[in-house]
Amino acid sequence: MTRETSTPEIRDVIIVGSGPAGYTAAVYAARANLRPIVFAGSVTAGGALMNTTEVENFPGFPEGVLGPQLMENMQKQAERFGADVRYEDVVAVNLGGEINTVTTDDDETYSARAVILANGSAYKEIGLPEEKRLSGRGVSCGKEMATTPSSRSLPA
Ligand SMILES: Cc1cc2nc3c(=O)[nH]c(=O)nc-3n(C[C@H](O)[C@H](O)[C@H](O)COP(=O)(O)OP(=O)(O)OC[C@H]3O[C@@H](n4cnc5c(N)ncnc54)[C@H](O)[C@@H]3O)c2cc1C
Repeated sequence: MTRETSTPEIRDVIIVGSGPAGYTAAVYAARANLRPIVFAGSVTAGGALMNTTEVENFPGFPEGVLGPQLMENMQKQAERFGADVRYEDVVAVNLGGEINTVTTDDDETYSARAVILANGSAYKEIGLPEEKRLSGRGVSCGKEMATTPSSRSLPA
């Protein structure tokens, strides 16, 4: 027996993901009165920057900003314009028609004219012994190791 239910309302925009891409889309959609729902994810809401400390390359923060603080700011900015943030995982999408559907982990199906997939990507680990422990504390990717001032002093 399935307990799947579907909400009758057709939304303009549904956004899957609450990282920088998801919240950027949410700010724009909400400011255009498109009343977006943002499915933030149940465990990893806020995205990859929740796992890091200092973010030094984001414009507008001359002293840098902590990753979780930056993501909290982005969420507040999106919510200020009416984005509806929900801490649920999307388990299925049906895209391509005039009306698209998104199903969440509590078996609820939502319909929308547009679905923005901003669910991020997983980065590849390179297999260093201390990689997991140092990830987000100066080690995140080779490029940053080479260019971030706070990382330059770390032993490779
Ligand atoms: C340790 C670390 C440090 C970093 N430091 C920097 C830095 O200093 N400067 C910089 O510019 N970049 C940095 N990056 C890279 C930066 O984090 C990414 O470029 C950025 O987060 C990508 O944003 P995104 O929105 O595309 O994806 P993500 O941030 O990965 O967000 C994806 C979102 O999708 C959600 N999601 C995924 N699947 C589902 C689903 N099925 N249902 C609902 N939600 C879902 C997740 O919950 C998450 O909210 C760092 C990355 C890491 C890992």
